[in-house]
Order: sequence, then C-alpha cells, then structure tokens
Amino acid sequence: MIYDMEMLKTFYASYAEKVGKARKKLGRAMTLAEKILYAHLYDEHTMAPFRRGEEYVNFRPDRVAMQDATAQMALLQFMNAGKSVSAVPATVHCDHLIQAYKGVEEDLPSACTTNKEVYDFLKSVASKYGIGFWKPGAGIIHQVVLENYAFPGGMMVGTDSHTPNAGGLGMIAIGVGGADAVDVMTGMEWELKMPKLIGVKLTGKLNGWASPKDVILKLAGILTVKGGTNAIIEYFGEGTHSLSATGKATICNMGAEVGATTSVFPYDEEMKRYLCATGREEIASLAEANAADLQADAEVAQAPEKYYDRLIEIDLSALEPYVNGPFTPDAACPISEFAARVKKEGFPQKMEVGLIGSCTNSSYQDLSRAASVARQVKAKGLKMQASLIINPGSEQVYCTAQRDGMIEDLKSIGGVVMTNACGPCIGQWKRVTDDPLRANSIVTSFNRNFAKRADGNPNTHAFIASPEMAVAFAIAGDLCFNPLTDTLTNEKGEAVKLDPPTGETLPLKGFTVDDNGYVAPSADGGKVEVTIQPDSQRLQKLEPFAPWNGEDFLELPLLIKTQGKCTTDHISMAGPWLRFRGHLENISDNMLMGAVNAFNGKTNCVWNQLTGEYEAVSAVAKQYKVKGMGSIVVAEENYGEGSSREHAAMEPRFLNVRVILAKSFARIHETNLKKQGMLALTFANKDDYDKVRERDRISILGLQHFAPGHPLYAVLTHDDGTTETFEVLHTYNEMQINWFKAGSALNTFKK
Ligand code: SF4
Repeated sequence: MIYDMEMLKTFYASYAEKVGKARKKLGRAMTLAEKILYAHLYDEHTMAPFRRGEEYVNFRPDRVAMQDATAQMALLQFMNAGKSVSAVPATVHCDHLIQAYKGVEEDLPSACTTNKEVYDFLKSVASKYGIGFWKPGAGIIHQVVLENYAFPGGMMVGTDSHTPNAGGLGMIAIGVGGADAVDVMTGMEWELKMPKLIGVKLTGKLNGWASPKDVILKLAGILTVKGGTNAIIEYFGEGTHSLSATGKATICNMGAEVGATTSVFPYDEEMKRYLCATGREEIASLAEANAADLQADAEVAQAPEKYYDRLIEIDLSALEPYVNGPFTPDAACPISEFAARVKKEGFPQKMEVGLIGSCTNSSYQDLSRAASVARQVKAKGLKMQASLIINPGSEQVYCTAQRDGMIEDLKSIGGVVMTNACGPCIGQWKRVTDDPLRANSIVTSFNRNFAKRADGNPNTHAFIASPEMAVAFAIAGDLCFNPLTDTLTNEKGEAVKLDPPTGETLPLKGFTVDDNGYVAPSADGGKVEVTIQPDSQRLQKLEPFAPWNGEDFLELPLLIKTQGKCTTDHISMAGPWLRFRGHLENISDNMLMGAVNAFNGKTNCVWNQLTGEYEAVSAVAKQYKVKGMGSIVVAEENYGEGSSREHAAMEPRFLNVRVILAKSFARIHETNLKKQGMLALTFANKDDYDKVRERDRISILGLQHFAPGHPLYAVLTHDDGTTETFEVLHTYNEMQINWFKAGSALNTFKK
C-alpha cells in the first residue's frame, strides 16, 4: 500500500477528541480550518486560543511532499540533519525537470538522460531515508498527492507553493520552503503564524461554460495577489457540494495566486466518491465517521461574520467564465467583457497556443470537458486556428483518459500530448515558433502567468482560463472569441456555435493504470549509498552559513533597488536554471536577473560601487563578497511572491546579501529568508523607499537589541555624504532571531 493506513487509523481515532478539547478551550463553535489546525498542534497541552494573524504556533503536520526542483535542496539540508529516516511519511515527485518539446514519446527518455544524475540522487536519498519516490513521468506532485495521499482533516506541507491543491480533499496543505520540510521530516515542531480566516460562501450551481476554475479566477480579481496573505480561505455553503473533489482542488490550488496560506473545502459526498474511485474506501469510511468535524460547526454558517475575518459570497449559478492576465493572475475579466479589454489594451488578438493540464487542471473531469469541446471540431466541420498542448497530471489520469478516448479526441485536433509533468507551466517549454520574440498571446489552464514564465519570451501574453475555454480559444485562434455568444465559420462557410462542454467528474469504468511510477524506499536504508561527485555541475554538498558576528550591518552597498513586481521567478528564474537547483553556487549566477532596476528600468544591470560600472546583479554581489562586503536589496510590495523555492533566499545568502528591505513580503518567501539567516525588513513608512538612491550605502542599526516587536533603524549614506535615518520593522519572533544569530535555522537545529 502506498499510504500508511495505520497512521491514518491512529489519526482519525483521536481527531474528534482533539477538536472537542479545542472547542471547549475556545468556548465557541469552530470553523473547519480551526479544527484541523488545533488537531495538529505540536504540543496539545498548549491549546491556548491563539490570536489569528499575530501569534506563531507550532504544528505537527502528517506528511511532506517534495517536487524534484525543490527536493534537491531540501534533501541536501536533511542529509545534514543527522537523521536516519524521515519522521513522517514523505514523497519526492519528479515533475519539474522534464522539458516539453516534441511530445512524451521523445521528451521523457530525453529528460531521463539529461537529468539522470539528479534523479539518481533523489531516488537514492529517498530510498535511504524512508521516502517514497515517484519517478519521471509518474505525474505532477499535486495531482499524485490528491490521488494517493490527501485525506480529509489531515495536514501536510509541501515544497511547492501549489501544495494547497490537497484542500480539495479537505486537507490543510501548505506550501513551504525546503528548510520547513526538513523541520517536519526531522520531527521538529513546524512553525506558522496562526492564519486569519477568509470565508467564501458558495451558493447556486455552475452551469454551461462556467467551471470550478472560474470560481478562483473571479476570486483572484476580488482578493488580488496579496489579498489572501497570512490567511486560510475556507469555502462553505451549499454550492460547495455541487463541485467535484478535483474541481475543489483546482480552486484550492490557485489560492496560492492570492497569497493564501492555504484553502480548504468541507468534507462531503464528492470527496467520498473521489476517495472511493481512487481505491481509498477505508479512508472514506474513517472520514465518514468523523464527518461532523470535517466541516465547520453549524453555528458558523448561521453567523459567518462572527467567525471569519473577511467574508465573500459567490453565486455559482451566475458565474461566467473568466480569462485572467496577462502577466499577473489577478487581472480578472469575465468573458463577456474580455474582447473589449483585448482591444482596449492592445493585446495581440491572434491566439497562438492553447495549453491545458498542469497540476491545476488535469483531472479526469477537466480532460473530459476539454475533449467534449475538441470533438466539436470534426462534428461541426471546423478547422483549428491555433495549436494545442496537453500536460496530463498523472499517469493514472492519462491512462484512464486514453482508455476512454479523450486523449484521441484531443490528438485528433492536433493536440500534442506532453509528459505527465509541469512542462510549459514552469518554463520547461522548447516552444516551436517562427519568431521567438514576437508579441503573441497564449491561453493556458495553468495557475501562473508572470512574464517569461512559460516560454521565456517577455512578449508572450499568457492568459489563464479553464481547459475547456483554452480549447475553445485554440479552435477560434482569436482572443476576442466568446464561445457563449459568438459563432465560428466552418469549412463549408456556415456559421456554427460551440455547444457548452460536458463531461464526467469521475470515470464511469473506474481509473486504470499499468505502472503508476511509484518506487518504495529500501527496507534497509542504512545500506543505501548516496553519492555526489565533487566536480558535479548539478549537485553540491551544502556548507553551513556563517553565524552573525554580533555587530550591526554598517554601510552595506545597495545591490539593487527593484521596481514593481519582484516574484521568486524574478529572483531565481526557472526554465533553464532548473538544472542547477541542487547546486547553490551555480544557480546563484541567476540571482535577481529578472528584477527591474528602479534607477534605469533595466534587468540584470546594476551599479557596481567597486568598479563604477553597470554589471549583472550576481557578478556585482560576487565582487562584494570577495572583498568581504555584504550588500542589501531594496524592494517594493509583496517581494518574493510566487513559488516556495528557497533558492530565492539561499542565493542572496550565499552571495553575502545580508538584508532584504521591502515594502512588504510574500509569506513563504519571508519565512525562507528567516530560515536562511537573512534579515527580512519592511519600511515603517513605505515612502522611505523613495529616499534610497542608487549609490547609497545602507546601515542597519539596533541588531544588538534585536527583539520581537522592536524596530530597527536604517541609515542611508548618500554619495554626496548626506545621511537619512528611518525606522524599519520586522516580524521575527525569539526562535527566528536565534536562526538569524546562528546563521540559519538548520545551524540552530544542529547545535
Ligand atoms: Fe508544476 Fe506548474 Fe503545478 Fe508548479 S504550478 S507544480 S510548475 S504544474
């Protein structure tokens, strides 16, 4: 059995009792998120009512999942922790490193050759430390977790920001950096600021072209990319029951795009159906017996404003399809207004590629509805006007969709089936195009659309929609096409309209798969050898970062003052750089290369105070490091938005950047910075950002008295000799201050 049934029996045996104790302590009814969180306290005797959005709390998650790009650094750290086996069930999934080019038949063998060294490393570490290994082609981490490991009421962390996908099965699943995963795998407490709660009430029922994806696309427009920060989005209301478990997972998956800690749906009949369809009847029975505590208490629905920090209501019956983008997932637009927006904003109207699949939208239901649109091409005598790419989420979904004819339906309209992996969603797309830099539009069913993310081309305008809408756009080849109202001209010259998509939520004949791609760990891990070649370009053993020297940071040269969005993609680009995710020195060459320098509007072009020249960011940082100098980065809002990759924190640390001073931080990235011993500070007055000049040296004062809740001070020394001083804030607690002093969280653990 792939999952640990004994662990699950033990969990459910005490779940209701733990929730009952928490309810008593709180003295009130509880939301679902609170129930799951309180049932996972590291020390259940500390069941104090925790202040949401303020207090840090230690938790004990049930499991860990890691994808291959982040697992390398996580496992390199775990190997330094001195444990012989992971303290909780954990898995590694090989999905990010596979390039999408010609199709699965050629791409998968090619990836297995190119990445052999990394796959061998991950497989051997997994085998040695009791960690399950999902080989290349087995599927995308979140789809595989949903099919095999997620369970109602559970709590997991994953080294990927879309880990919340498992909320579709009623789990609190949180994206974290590798160092957090190491905490959990070593059996240490895992710390999180008690999240606030956003309640989203769903009423009505989806119809026509509207899909679960449109719920989250609409919500992204309401909340924006920052609106969910430090909050759990909890869905409730009768509308939740009309959504399939995989549809719920899609919604939870993209909660990451509004910065939410995670998202969760209450247990219901749809979850039970999904558990049973994926061979987990026993878990369904256990969940059924705990059903009352796998949803919010009845009082919550009667007066939700008393229990949630913010309330939003969405009527599914009135929801229309959305198309979000380009360049940010919260630029939400209902399809009825989209054509006008395309024209007004001057987006390239020709739609060139539709891409479906990814961890967000590759369920059986998604492929089934997309295939129902694809079949209309032949039935209505239409001709495809754009190309189509499909990335199935798992071998199980692929085999089942193939048996049921859906893959053939998609191939029959020119669809190219790529490997069951991330592919274009993470920049692993060797796109075939006549002009790689031409302004162009694509529509994906993915979750992110930052500039350059899919194909590395800053001129690609990526829009996010449901898979069925992506197929409709690919048929029309026109971004102004609205399948709900518009007609297309077929090969006979007739005007034809596409019918709304149809499909099954689960396969009527059950799921099928020959080889799901799972490799169990060794029964005797002590005998497994893990080797890293000293001259390897892809893997490098980690050296601990140096502890703090006890002094203030004086006159750090400004490395870069970034302007506008600075996501983890800008800080540590993916695409071709993914190959160095296990080699800190090599990957540090990409540090901040996508960030825009506020002084010249250029990327990867910053003033070097030593040479007086403009050079690449990492090149300048390296020169400061060689001279024994630290440096500082200044940034705007939501710095580090996007993925959980801790390379975005480790690279600056490695290149001796000591401080990131931003207007605000994305949650996962702020924690990653703290874990790596960096100082993550915010402006007390955001206007002080404007005071920072290109040739400044910046001191951070007050570190001898670094304490929770106490501000520090920044002193700018301008190159004309004048200085300006202002207050800077931090969110470090005692433990995190110790991480800073020790040089990293891992250093404190090893002490
Ligand atoms: Fe892979 Fe994209 Fe999902 Fe990340 S968001 S796990 S890159 S498919």
